[in-house]
Amino acid sequence: MANGSPILSASTNLNDFVIATIGSHSALQILKGAKDEGFKTLAICKKGTERVYDKRGYGVADEIITVDAFEDWNDQLEEELIKRNAIIIPHGSFIAYMGHERVQSMKTMYYGTKEILEWESNRTMERQWMEKSGLVLPKIYSDPADIDKPVIVKFHGAGGGFGYFIARTPEQFWEVKNKKHPDNNDYAIQEYIVGVPLYAHYFQSPITGELEIMSFDKRYESNADSIGRIKAADQLAANIHTSYTIVGNIPIVVRESLLPKFLEMGENVVKVSKDITANGKGLFGPFCLECIVTRKLEIFCFEISARIVAGTNPFVEGSPYTALKYDVPMSTGRRIALDIRQAIEGGKLEEILG
Ligand code: ATP
Repeated sequence: MANGSPILSASTNLNDFVIATIGSHSALQILKGAKDEGFKTLAICKKGTERVYDKRGYGVADEIITVDAFEDWNDQLEEELIKRNAIIIPHGSFIAYMGHERVQSMKTMYYGTKEILEWESNRTMERQWMEKSGLVLPKIYSDPADIDKPVIVKFHGAGGGFGYFIARTPEQFWEVKNKKHPDNNDYAIQEYIVGVPLYAHYFQSPITGELEIMSFDKRYESNADSIGRIKAADQLAANIHTSYTIVGNIPIVVRESLLPKFLEMGENVVKVSKDITANGKGLFGPFCLECIVTRKLEIFCFEISARIVAGTNPFVEGSPYTALKYDVPMSTGRRIALDIRQAIEGGKLEEILG
């Protein structure tokens, strides 16, 4: 057994396991989904946030472990988790707090492929993965002098796209860059795609071998989604700079004719992920392709998220897509738990642990 307690993790009894995650991001649907599939649940909470997850709030956690800060993840905490035979479900905040390097050395059972996190977090590697998968990508400008159409300038590690800016010419680029970010040279210049943002949520099961589209969302971003509420002249006068801090997520149902393309894109990303990971397990479980769809219905993809995204949160009761496939409300959180349940009951737990 690669992870966890060798004796209990060979068990085919759900009662011998606990589904655990940190109390943030998409923990509510992950833990609710785990309970619906018959698991005991545990939330690791930052002091002061417990009431969302325990009986005072939504009651999705049977047990809470409180920490001062998620960054304090330590051996003692891991011991507690291993003792309970916990299976950790990673989500966006979990990866952000832990960092992909620390995740590699975790000893607690972990749902998903750890190795894929490096491919997701390194922009060059991520682009290689996306290119090999045949996705249509926004052009990258390595030299600002080549800017010949609108571009979005992205600073690495800029939370919520803070400081991103749009430029149309090399002169505009240097003007904003020198004025606002004189010392920051860690950026990528990407073709700005005019279209609507669309985030496609997938699930790839190693147990059934199937790829499913779970749902779609768009993000509600401040102040990118508020600037359009005032007229252009006022936008200029107010000197507002666009930021993309996510405030919430809005469900989307796409034109049905786009579904074959989205399925093909997801399948290719999974196929290539098996080639680029050393153990060949590739990407499985929930993932998201972050896209912009143009007026010609061309789908540009600008990022892969190799884990559950918060855009699945509106679908605690399932989505129009999962309603077509399942007879019970199937959130992405519950789909993860179903995968784990089937793996445990089928004696295939190792297949879903990274
Ligand atoms: P993360 O998703 O890793 O948290 P972030 O939110 O900081 O990153 P991005 O997701 O890269 O930043 O992008 C922020 C916003 O910019 C999103 O609204 C996205 O739709 C938009 N965007 C990103 N790349 C492009 C592009 N090439 N063309 C048009 N819009 C883009």
